[in-house]
Amino acid sequence: MEEILVLAEHRKGMLRDITFEMLNFANALTSQNRMKVSVLLLGEDNAAMAERLENFCDNLLLLDCPEVANYSPDPYLQVLEKVVQERKSSLILMGHTAAGMDLAPPLAARLGLPLVSDCLDVSLRNEHLEVLRQIYGGKINAKLRLKPFDQYLCTLRPGCFSASVNREGSADKVMVEPPHWSEFRRRFVEYVEAELADVDITAADILVSVGRGIGKPENISLVEEFADAIGATLSCSRPVADKGWLPKSRQVGTSGKTVRPKVYIALGISGAFQHQAGMKNAETIIAVNKDVKAPIFNVAHYGIVGDLFQVIPVLKEKFAR
Ligand SMILES: Cc1cc2nc3c(=O)[nH]c(=O)nc-3n(C[C@H](O)[C@H](O)[C@H](O)COP(=O)(O)OP(=O)(O)OC[C@H]3O[C@@H](n4cnc5c(N)ncnc54)[C@H](O)[C@@H]3O)c2cc1C
Repeated sequence: MEEILVLAEHRKGMLRDITFEMLNFANALTSQNRMKVSVLLLGEDNAAMAERLENFCDNLLLLDCPEVANYSPDPYLQVLEKVVQERKSSLILMGHTAAGMDLAPPLAARLGLPLVSDCLDVSLRNEHLEVLRQIYGGKINAKLRLKPFDQYLCTLRPGCFSASVNREGSADKVMVEPPHWSEFRRRFVEYVEAELADVDITAADILVSVGRGIGKPENISLVEEFADAIGATLSCSRPVADKGWLPKSRQVGTSGKTVRPKVYIALGISGAFQHQAGMKNAETIIAVNKDVKAPIFNVAHYGIVGDLFQVIPVLKEKFAR
């Protein structure tokens, strides 16, 4: 294996966290295996983004043209097909994001590459690629060893790796020649913003997450006030979203979002594996539950066995900004 090729992901001129998560992961893998990390940045007027990336890879492959200004599957696919074939990259990494999920399968089909999607981890053992994936809706983590191939394509689940890349150095910049574009059947038109009330819980440093233990929708405001007081963002378990007490965009877990905040405070959440799958990589987990046997305590760093209605005022007083 010689090169890991990371596809940089960005939106509105801003690199997305998944790009740095993949770079962090790729650099850790190459440090053990003497491979090179290359980043492919497609965009228009992308000098500022390129500057942010150049310390974190060996090669920075740049294509700066209007066709790839925003993510769009047809032009991206045509560029990737050319680059991957020319460079013979051993491992191609994309985020398991809306863009990565859209792009990886047709790329794999066109180039005949083995594709493993939604990986929680990827490692190399005696030249064999091993990947960690969740099966049975997140109930079991399965480690899979792939047959030897010259090239592999993997999508990495966002939030599974830290986004702080530990590497110094300057990349060689390589200008990528655009392919001979063939017809685009789809074109980027515009970004349609999510409703104003929506927040991106994956970007929050502190999450206060509320579960069914809150009892009724009128009680959500208590947790909301607590979150505001400590500068946190509100998230929830699935029943709270299913009942419509908070929007679906706030749900943490296998059928919601995977989060990796600095602090995750779980209030009245039992900690079913589907929930844990979305939050267990938080740096610090604090759980409040009146049931000492609640599974959330298996992943919590700090646990408070008690009634959340009594505990919240105490936490609020101690930690309010
Ligand atoms: C295919 C599939 C996908 C799923 N995806 C998700 C997902 O993405 N996210 C998710 O969260 N779930 C998901 N679930 C549901 C999951 O299995 C659990 O049912 C759910 O996480 C439970 O939510 P909860 O912990 O809020 O509720 P409960 O399991 O009902 O737990 C409530 C907890 O609150 C505690 N409690 C009650 N009152 C108080 C009080 N006054 N003070 C303190 N503690 C109190 C109780 O002891 C209990 O532990 C999924 C399920 C399936 C089948």
